[in-house]
Amino acid sequence: MPYANENIFAKIIRGDIPSYRVFEDEQTLAFMDVMPQVPGHTLVIPKFPAENLLDVDPDYLAATILVTQRVAGAVKEAFEAPGIMIAQLNGSAAGQTVFHLHFHILPRHDGLEFKLHARDMEDGAVLEAHAQRIRAALDSR
Ligand code: 5GP
Repeated sequence: MPYANENIFAKIIRGDIPSYRVFEDEQTLAFMDVMPQVPGHTLVIPKFPAENLLDVDPDYLAATILVTQRVAGAVKEAFEAPGIMIAQLNGSAAGQTVFHLHFHILPRHDGLEFKLHARDMEDGAVLEAHAQRIRAALDSR
């Protein structure tokens, strides 16, 4: 399947639709998932038109995984999470629903289950408050 320029994350990169951003540089963007599986669920994407891990430019992949590590540390601190889960799906058979490469960052706490994938839309004010907490943790590093 060829990369679709109209997918939702391509629109977010272009600024055609809003997002709750926590970090951005020339090659990458990190923002809140609008249907979080847990509070603090963050996504990191390359600014490269790749559907998945298998077709991304290696330089962009390297930049994206380094930013994933950095943002994961900030999410861990901001949400006082003893555990951090990183997830990345390739192809609809694997459960991928948005066809622009992305890494999920989920803060995890003992005994606290995560919600089903891409189900309940979170309130914008909550997402902005969570993004602020993560930005503050990034700034303090
Ligand atoms: P996938 O299923 O492809 O691994 O994950 C796609 C993720 O994108 C889901 O967790 C879903 O909640 C999230 N998502 C879908 N549409 C939007 C959107 O418009 N904005 C943001 N920020 N996240 C979205």
